[in-house]
Amino acid sequence: MEIEQLLILVKPDGIKKSLTGNILTKLSESRMVIIGAKIVKVSRDLAEAHYCHLKDKLFFNELLDYIRGKIYGEPWDRVLAFVYQGEDAVSRMRKIAGATNPEEADHVSIRGSYGRITTKGVYENVIHCSSDPSEAAREIKLWFKPEEIVKEIYPVKKIVVEKE
Ligand code: UDP
Repeated sequence: MEIEQLLILVKPDGIKKSLTGNILTKLSESRMVIIGAKIVKVSRDLAEAHYCHLKDKLFFNELLDYIRGKIYGEPWDRVLAFVYQGEDAVSRMRKIAGATNPEEADHVSIRGSYGRITTKGVYENVIHCSSDPSEAAREIKLWFKPEEIVKEIYPVKKIVVEKE
């Protein structure tokens, strides 16, 4: 089992629908540790860099507006960014997050429970979850400065409080 890190974003629709608590509770089932956390008002440059692999898609501009919360306005125009760490973090968190299309996502996953497709066809799927370890490394560098991330690797078993 590899210890991996990944980026999770609670997207503006997740914040607007007051889903942060539900989302973090579901993610905590993975027993992974949060090693970075902050609120970010997303610039166009950051949004473009984050979604650079989708720049040729017809929905690219709508996607930038979505992740920047432009379609919701103040005070929903921000995201919560987290770095999680744990064993096989990426594949395990992707399972909890669910498929990209909320209508195809497992109904108990986060996206399947809370996502929807807008009238413009954008998948409002409430969280971002890195898709593979190399993409995760690229995204973490983009969103966090090295000093904003806790350095130690905590073996998850050791932080479980043991009964006396
Ligand atoms: N997206 C969309 N329509 C699509 C594909 C993607 O609206 O046909 C949006 C959706 O919000 C998704 C984001 O673009 O989460 C990034 O897409 P990606 O293919 O990277 O999927 P993800 O890694 O987020 O599951």
